[in-house]
Amino acid sequence: MIILVINCGSSSIKYQLLDMKSDDVYDLMAKGVVEKIGLPEGILTHKPTGKPVLVRNLPIPDHKVGMELLLAALVDPESGVLRSFDDIEAVGHRIVQGADFFSGSALVDEDVLSKIEICCDFAPLHNPAHLLGIRAMQKVLPTVPQVVTFDTAFHQTMPGKAFMYAVPYEYYENDGVRRYGFHGTSHRYVSSRCAELMGKPIEELKIISCHMGNGSSIAAIDGGKCVDTSMGFTPLVGLPMGTRCGDLDAGVIQFLMNKHHYSIDEMLNILNKKSGVLGISGVSSDFRDLDSAASAGNERAKLALDMFHYWVAKVAGSYVAAMNGVDAIVFTAGVGENSKATRAAICDYFGYLGVTVDNEANSVRGEDIMISTPDSPVKVFVIPTNEELVIARDTRDIVS
Ligand code: ADP
Repeated sequence: MIILVINCGSSSIKYQLLDMKSDDVYDLMAKGVVEKIGLPEGILTHKPTGKPVLVRNLPIPDHKVGMELLLAALVDPESGVLRSFDDIEAVGHRIVQGADFFSGSALVDEDVLSKIEICCDFAPLHNPAHLLGIRAMQKVLPTVPQVVTFDTAFHQTMPGKAFMYAVPYEYYENDGVRRYGFHGTSHRYVSSRCAELMGKPIEELKIISCHMGNGSSIAAIDGGKCVDTSMGFTPLVGLPMGTRCGDLDAGVIQFLMNKHHYSIDEMLNILNKKSGVLGISGVSSDFRDLDSAASAGNERAKLALDMFHYWVAKVAGSYVAAMNGVDAIVFTAGVGENSKATRAAICDYFGYLGVTVDNEANSVRGEDIMISTPDSPVKVFVIPTNEELVIARDTRDIVS
């Protein structure tokens, strides 16, 4: 089944075309990105497998034109991978926020769209863009079924003691204020892959999944169900990230707003875009730049990295307590998949559990691998995440 997977932002559309032959056997036919939608000069970069890359620079006024462009690229005489649009059997969309409405993926209909619309209040930067993407796709491929997969859905199994904030109950009841968690599709993928690699049913495992990219979050997964996660009502909290502050005393916000006369938007912009390892180091939000600066003796870059390792260990350690044990720790996403030093520094904190890392295995990149030594009682894995594959599988299952 040929499935188009779409990840729509406010000014960009990322896509992958997958031919799903079975659950694990699939061909990536093409991937690409439409960028700078709404700006004078837009760009389409289309990368078909085994064919020349297609780059087009032209104004892309809205998401509908963006969708038309990427579909045209898919059937382009030179860089196309399809004979006609009719070959696309379903479209799967990534949606950031589904709140309490969705604990799994869903076939798009008017009711589903209205619930995603209600969730716009919780994710004003993301959900409106996803809706634009779905509606644009409905216009250009009106007969093709569309499915939505939510970043929050996997975390819907959290118990109240984990998802509630200790504020007056009415804010939960009336306003939906609670921990939702994000990166759920990634945590779901790597935890199920981890169980496969361990050759055990996921129902018997306690797994801590560390998604460490530009945005980072950790999930505690007991018996295949998420029981806690570090991101909250929004993706701002939990670990210090590339540019997000992570956990912070709300009193700091009041203090800085009063002292520097910031508006709430200015304050949140600082906490979302200028904080995290960028804010601490003053160097970069990119962990490769931080590694180079720290090696060259930059103390603040070193502090930023130390803080990041400490927080990952601290939150993951709290999940060992939450689950009363742990069988496996998984690292994924840009930093988790690539930074040997970060993984080693975090694993050092788990010496008390007997975790030992095999240096040679920890040097391998880009593949699923166990990096703990065979005698380590807690297994440690690096598993490259694949959110698009999860979306394509869910789309196929729902449509068929
Ligand atoms: P996003 O959250 O935007 O999807 P990614 O998962 O792609 O982010 O992760 C991006 C991060 O991965 C960047 O901070 C980048 O520095 C980091 N990264 C990529 N390669 C390496 C590497 N070799 N060593 C350390 N960090 C890396």
